[in-house]
Amino acid sequence: MFKSILSAALVISVFSACHPKQKNVEKTMHNIDHHSFAKPEEAVVKHLKLDLNVDFASKQLSGYAELSIDNLGKVNTLHLDTRDLTIDSVWLDDNMPTSFELGKPVEFLGSDLAIAIKPTTKKVRVKYSTSPDAAAVQWLSPEQTAGGKTPFLFTQSQAILARTWIPLQDSPGVRFTYSATITCPPDLMAVMSAENDTVLHADGKYNFNMPQAIPSYLMALAVGNFKFHAYDNRSGVFAEPVTLDKAANEFIDLPKMIAAAEELYGPYAWGRYDVLVLPPSFPFGGMENPRITFATPTILAGDRSLVSLIAHELAHSWSGNLVTNATWDDFWLNEGFTVYFETRIMEKLYGKDYADMLTVLSKGELENTIKELGDKNPDSHLYLNLKDRDPDDGMSDIAYEKGRFFLTTIEMAVGREKWDAFLKKYFAEHAFQSITTDVFLDYLNKELIHDDAALKSKINIDAWVFGPGLPANCPVITSKALDMAGTAAEQFKKGTPAKDLVVEGWNTHQWLYFLRQLPEKMEEKQMKDLDAAFHFTASGNAEIKCDWLLHTINSQYKEGYKALDEFLCHVGRRKFVRPLFEAMIATPEGKEMAKAIYVKARSGYHAVTMQTIDDMLK
Ligand SMILES: [Zn+2]
Repeated sequence: MFKSILSAALVISVFSACHPKQKNVEKTMHNIDHHSFAKPEEAVVKHLKLDLNVDFASKQLSGYAELSIDNLGKVNTLHLDTRDLTIDSVWLDDNMPTSFELGKPVEFLGSDLAIAIKPTTKKVRVKYSTSPDAAAVQWLSPEQTAGGKTPFLFTQSQAILARTWIPLQDSPGVRFTYSATITCPPDLMAVMSAENDTVLHADGKYNFNMPQAIPSYLMALAVGNFKFHAYDNRSGVFAEPVTLDKAANEFIDLPKMIAAAEELYGPYAWGRYDVLVLPPSFPFGGMENPRITFATPTILAGDRSLVSLIAHELAHSWSGNLVTNATWDDFWLNEGFTVYFETRIMEKLYGKDYADMLTVLSKGELENTIKELGDKNPDSHLYLNLKDRDPDDGMSDIAYEKGRFFLTTIEMAVGREKWDAFLKKYFAEHAFQSITTDVFLDYLNKELIHDDAALKSKINIDAWVFGPGLPANCPVITSKALDMAGTAAEQFKKGTPAKDLVVEGWNTHQWLYFLRQLPEKMEEKQMKDLDAAFHFTASGNAEIKCDWLLHTINSQYKEGYKALDEFLCHVGRRKFVRPLFEAMIATPEGKEMAKAIYVKARSGYHAVTMQTIDDMLK
């Protein structure tokens, strides 16, 4: 049954006005997005036409956003989300100026832009410019890029940062199509989460079209000096020229990944699938911007060992981009499904042993997160309550990994065949919709569980979705390859010199597991022994390096401090930056070192990473 957030919210609120029953009130509450000023149940944006000029000198985007609306309630006010935007003027339909009021800024949320409209209004055009500090937009100087010669810009809109560069209804429950004209310096190229050209335009003018309806957090733009390498007629990679060969070689399995994903859960719905490799300050591993995943260069390990990240972003083309969490409280619907799907793609391409290895490593990370949160913390529920908080707070391993293990639990309870058929149908029937946790659970019961009490108790849905920590029925996965690395770590702890350990042919994941089994704090001679045998301080693999640098900090291994400083001044991926700063501030000397490094590193970080470290060093 079609049940989008908008129609559901509208129907239920009308219904509960006549029959104010508790159950309906609750249902409406679940559908409310605490993180948006928009009132899409009154008037909803259906299409966005964007025309922006990119000015690197002033670090500003300026131009207009023209929103085509459906005035469902024939209301006289349209509410949009904005944050740090300068609104110049607003026009209705055929160039009729109208009044507007920008509300008082609220932390994280920004300001409500209330625009006077008419019950007949079809189009609202907002002329505006962004702030040089717009949180979604990172302006990089030439020195901050791999090539070092031309500037670079990229946006990161998830979760609620789209409003810092476009006035719109910034809620994942609202979907719209868009077209855009971007004008940038003529030596640079622009790409968006839309249909992209793969060649440079001499006039610096790029036109984009996104014919499928997307939520605002998938609005994305990047401008820089990139070149394109095609794998086949529907996939390829964009990167700075100096990075292109390495990137093209790293992601060579991309066409196979797309085929594997389609075989699992149905046709890829978005036309092309390309990857854009960003400079190292990108705060996340990847961002699933439709048609063009934005990815960190820290996955270019040279041996294709970190490409599960691309499988993850690709999987979002179904879970997240096609079927979207209606609010950030339902974030696990995006991420839990995606981690599950990613693992299935990896299993299809590289075998069950390989996928299990990734799963065991992730489980360790999840257990650490739960330990940090404490076993009663509501933030360890899958369904979150992020009211009055930054939705970024909900972006922990819980949504990702606890979500994945919940889905694996269902798979094991019903069998893979039934589960896969269910998932395929789930994606098909909810395509281009934004749904809540309730809608998913109702669908799960209707299609798969059929009120079977024994099956219900076997899965224990409530404990997974509305309870803390990891339920007792969490699947136990093991990995022989990782057990080997665990054995070596044990031997080292018992005194076997590092050079005598059997590490022949180990992959990245085995090294990570090995490092994670070692004591948090080691003797200087142990650190030296490991470094001499395995050259961790000099490692070019960002994952291995980060784990080693944690040991470096915890063990106060001074020989590694220079590498730590360089790593943090070069890489802005929050997954690495956060734990390293956390480890440093655990001691007074470490805190001084953290502050000294941060003074140098901060300007190279995206606002998302900056916010995290600012809070930590307050
Ligand atoms: Zn994801």
